[in-house]
Amino acid sequence: MLDQKKHTFDTFQLIVEASPNALILVNKSGNIEYVNAFTENLFLYSKKELTGATLETIIPNRFINKHNEYFQRFLKNPTPRQMGKGRDLFAVKKDGQEFPVEIGLNPIVVGNNPLILALIIDISERKKAEILLRKHSKELELKNKELEQFNSIASHDLQEPLNTIISWTDLLQHTLDLSEDDESTQMFGYITNAATRMKKLIHGLLEYSHLGRDAELKQVNCASLLESVEEDLLASIEKSNATLEISDLPTIWAYELELRLLFQNLISNSIKYRKESESPKITISAKAINDAWQFTVKDNGIGIEKEYHDKIFTIFQRIHPSETYEGSGIGLAHCRKIIDLHHGSIEIESESGKGSSFIFTIPDLKHYKSAPE
Ligand code: ADP
Repeated sequence: MLDQKKHTFDTFQLIVEASPNALILVNKSGNIEYVNAFTENLFLYSKKELTGATLETIIPNRFINKHNEYFQRFLKNPTPRQMGKGRDLFAVKKDGQEFPVEIGLNPIVVGNNPLILALIIDISERKKAEILLRKHSKELELKNKELEQFNSIASHDLQEPLNTIISWTDLLQHTLDLSEDDESTQMFGYITNAATRMKKLIHGLLEYSHLGRDAELKQVNCASLLESVEEDLLASIEKSNATLEISDLPTIWAYELELRLLFQNLISNSIKYRKESESPKITISAKAINDAWQFTVKDNGIGIEKEYHDKIFTIFQRIHPSETYEGSGIGLAHCRKIIDLHHGSIEIESESGKGSSFIFTIPDLKHYKSAPE
């Protein structure tokens, strides 16, 4: 029996010694009674130096007062816990080097002696990674802002010379007084078409950069919003003989104008990319998922092959040729930006020839007072 006990104790000691984190036993006076091998590695003190020393040996001077306060508080209510939750904790090595740590405290009783087992984890690498991540995300944010600014200025400034080209081309054509079947008339036609198309692209770019600029979060009744989108699209709905089936939709916190544009783009696309053989049938539904609303806009149109599913959300990316379906490849980029603005996500489920479902989520934004950063 005694042998068995000794064996268990020896095994336990081996485990403690092999632990890749520092384990320190401290008594109620704050003196160290035992440290494992890793503590020596971490703090560069020998076991002999630490045993009997006060815990303050491994705490930076500027934290000692606070430490004593916390230690006394722990002694009054000694329950297992993480030390200093929400604060940055530091320890100090023998050579004076400070490093960030996480400390777990556990009250234990050895014999009749109440002790505290402290588990100390060096989190320097994690902190370094966190700092790097924060730095990268700040840089990325800055780059995005710069890019948007550039986009806005460039598209604004490009409009001016383009308008000049369009009006001078028009004036020149009239001055030359060409006949309908003159070859030059055809050439003027190409120039005007290309310039008009470019004007649309620039306009789209400008709109893209302005999206969400002065947006204000408010409660939006999606059912009413869709009624008015439907009214706006009435001409193309009737022309294509489309039917819209809209199920119960919620009232959500959103940027109204942007949300409206999102539905408008998705429904217009469902009508535009319809099959020749069938009238467009579009269903719009929503369901609550955790703290978000998930919306689906589903159509019975021509669909999109899987390999293009990511590409279509990128600005100016088009899958179907302009000769068959007019467009500039901006609509879905707008949709993605609008969803990003709402901190949501958007994806497509579709197969060629089998219709498409655009599924997007908008989280509950009621806690945001203005545009989420
Ligand atoms: P545009 O319609 O102006 O080309 P979008 O950004 O709205 O630009 O769409 C990008 C591409 O995604 C389209 O060119 C089209 O190929 C495809 N697409 C978008 N919506 C649908 C849809 N409902 N069904 C099939 N294809 C679609």
